[in-house]
Amino acid sequence: MQTDVHRFPLADPGDVQGLRQAIATGLVDPREIVAVIGKTHGNGLVNDYTRGFLTQSLAFLISGATGETPDAIRQRIPFVFSGGVEGVLSPHYSVFTVTESRSVESAEKALAIGVAFTPELAPGDVGRQRQIDLTAEAVIRAMRSANIQSSSDVHFVQIKGPAFTLAEILADADAGGRPASDNPGKLMGLGRAASALGVAKALGEIPASRAVESAIGRDFEAFSSVASCSAGVEVRANEVIVVGMSSQWSGPLAIEHAPMKDALDTTGIRSALSGLGFPDVLQLSSKQASRIRAVFVKCEASRDGVIRGKSHTMLNDGDIDQQRHIRAAVGPADPVSGALVRPCATARLHPVIGPGWLATGDASAAYDPLSGQGITKSLRNGVLAAYAAADALLKPGSLGLTRYAAILDAQFAGYQRAHRAHFARETRWASAPFWARRQFVPSGAGGQISVAFPKEVWHDSCWKPKCQTYETKNGRPTGNIGANGP
Ligand SMILES: Cc1cc2nc3c(=O)[nH]c(=O)nc-3n(C[C@H](O)[C@H](O)[C@H](O)COP(=O)(O)OP(=O)(O)OC[C@H]3O[C@@H](n4cnc5c(N)ncnc54)[C@H](O)[C@@H]3O)c2cc1C
Repeated sequence: MQTDVHRFPLADPGDVQGLRQAIATGLVDPREIVAVIGKTHGNGLVNDYTRGFLTQSLAFLISGATGETPDAIRQRIPFVFSGGVEGVLSPHYSVFTVTESRSVESAEKALAIGVAFTPELAPGDVGRQRQIDLTAEAVIRAMRSANIQSSSDVHFVQIKGPAFTLAEILADADAGGRPASDNPGKLMGLGRAASALGVAKALGEIPASRAVESAIGRDFEAFSSVASCSAGVEVRANEVIVVGMSSQWSGPLAIEHAPMKDALDTTGIRSALSGLGFPDVLQLSSKQASRIRAVFVKCEASRDGVIRGKSHTMLNDGDIDQQRHIRAAVGPADPVSGALVRPCATARLHPVIGPGWLATGDASAAYDPLSGQGITKSLRNGVLAAYAAADALLKPGSLGLTRYAAILDAQFAGYQRAHRAHFARETRWASAPFWARRQFVPSGAGGQISVAFPKEVWHDSCWKPKCQTYETKNGRPTGNIGANGP
């Protein structure tokens, strides 16, 4: 058995183009799809219908490709969509496939997946013992179907449980049901808690005696480290996906997990990445990140209203639900693909002209963000570039391009002088790394400073990493570009 994971972007909640293409090109065999997990555009609350829309769209697509009915597809494939892509979260979905083959025990464990469903749940079952127990049974079934022998090999359990509208909750109460709350949003939360207790019980993270309805909202030491529980009006049962490692599976993929201490904690994801052999860095390179098929993060606003000793407003905001705050806060902390860290130091292309081409704007030079020089210089140099280009094209052999390069040289030297003068005026935090980097003064009575710019700022094909050299006298930059300068 081998599982694979394919991630597709989502332009809108009905966009199934990525999977459609993967099926058409043979990358994904629709009969091998066993689970789909994704982030959609809606608010993630009771009235988020983007999850249902995507569920339906994918069920139709897959049923069209396999010949099954859309209902049959929904009964065999859990579609777990979580709404809400605040901040820089990007809508997407990940498709898990399983290629059946004879199970062969191997010394190496590989990624394994199993799915299961509880019977349908009514509003009166949500947040109740029945949901805890049925979830625990389904987790054990999913684990067995994944051939995962030990709960220590389970790294991720994704549950999607039902949510209900007010009308449905009231109708259930009228019919003799016992809804744990008549507030649809609160009932969603109680359902997530019951699902998590079910996971913790199934995996032995807590004894069965603590996986009880009375623990919900009270016993905060009863939790699961691998459960990610979500609820939505688009499902009627708890849909369970168990992902872990098994020696019965083969393939190159693996999974790790680690808890986050709070909403600002990035050590959790870094520790999970380290467990998979990635270097412990603030941001993976794009090459390293391209090896990662999917990252699943679950978070909640801290209940005491405090993060690292400072108060937060997420639970008091009457306009915006806390779920929306916490997603926007946690999303950018992703060292894999969330916030992209890019160097934005002063940098310069050298040379800025060549046979048949010239560079202008940011392509020719970039300035310290604090200087706010990018737009004016880009506009001005764009005009000069147009003149230089016209000269070169209309009067071959003219000095237009050379003159343009000389103007840009002088302009950059002037910027550097002003930059040094401005930053030298700040004297209070000379030893702080930010200012130390900007006030760098070389040792020695004369000679040259070489400042190597980060390699990434240079264009791969034609830019070479360059050293800027500045003349110095008595250890101070003179403001002149040195002999080896640009
Ligand atoms: C976050 C941020 C804040 C900034 N704040 C300021 C500020 O406050 N003040 C200030 O002066 N400067 C600021 N800058 C810098 C300023 O935005 C840039 O210096 C300026 O926009 C550069 O203009 P440009 O025309 O050279 O390049 P760009 O504005 O980057 O334009 C280049 C265009 O070319 C397009 N392009 C790229 N490749 C191709 C291709 N192969 N074919 C066709 N099109 C292509 C790009 O999509 C883009 O539209 C800021 C920059 C950033 C990123």
